[in-house]
Amino acid sequence: MNPIVNNLFSINERIARAAERSSRTPDSIELVAVTKGRSVPEMQAILDAGVTNIGENRVQEAQQKYGAVNATADAISTRETCRWHLIGHLQRNKVKTALEMFSLIHSVDSLRLLAEIARRAEARAQGIDVLIQVNTTRETGKYGLDAADLLAFMEDAQAYPTVNIIGLMTMGQFSSSPETNRPAFALLRALAEKVEAQQFPTVTMQHLSMGMTNDFEIAIEEGANLVRIGRAIFEVSEE
Ligand SMILES: *Cc1c(COP(=O)(O)O)cnc(C)c1O
Repeated sequence: MNPIVNNLFSINERIARAAERSSRTPDSIELVAVTKGRSVPEMQAILDAGVTNIGENRVQEAQQKYGAVNATADAISTRETCRWHLIGHLQRNKVKTALEMFSLIHSVDSLRLLAEIARRAEARAQGIDVLIQVNTTRETGKYGLDAADLLAFMEDAQAYPTVNIIGLMTMGQFSSSPETNRPAFALLRALAEKVEAQQFPTVTMQHLSMGMTNDFEIAIEEGANLVRIGRAIFEVSEE
């Protein structure tokens, strides 16, 4: 078996077990396979193995691969079932291109960006789903809103009803111990509950996007239902 596909199976197993530990069903957790830096054949391998969510962190790289992935064998079924997720920082001058590819933008971190997304979505006469990125670890220089600013942000976002805010996203710290990030993930979940309680018209807290290769099981235990995993899928140990 292709070692990448083997990795995929074992990750799905681990996701299922973490889901059970948090009293949820395995299929309530979606795997976003992070393909930044990966080749089109590597991407095709996971799509053939049933992956339906692709995560890219740069618009330009995604754009280069998007056409090629959709042009390969099984293009029709791939195109119909695969959703592309933008998980990295988005510059306002890339919004127009991003809207042509991505089903969900995980990384909205300013009102100016949200406004530009709204403007471009209106031009396309289509709504767009986004998540709001929160800097839960309070590391300086990291993207994401401060937790303290989130409710005010949601209020301001009501001016842009073509943008559906359907959840929150965060990134843990780089750390050798996944437990380090449990408080950050718990904070994101608590914030989502706070936001939900306000019942803003353009906001539904359906998704918590948190957890990567190092810490996805902890994230699931704390309520993640979108996990973004790259290395654990694509890194193949040489024996
Ligand atoms: C690269 C990346 C991931 C995946 O990280 P891995 O450690 O490879 O699993 C997840 N989220 C974001 C925002 C990323 O940039």
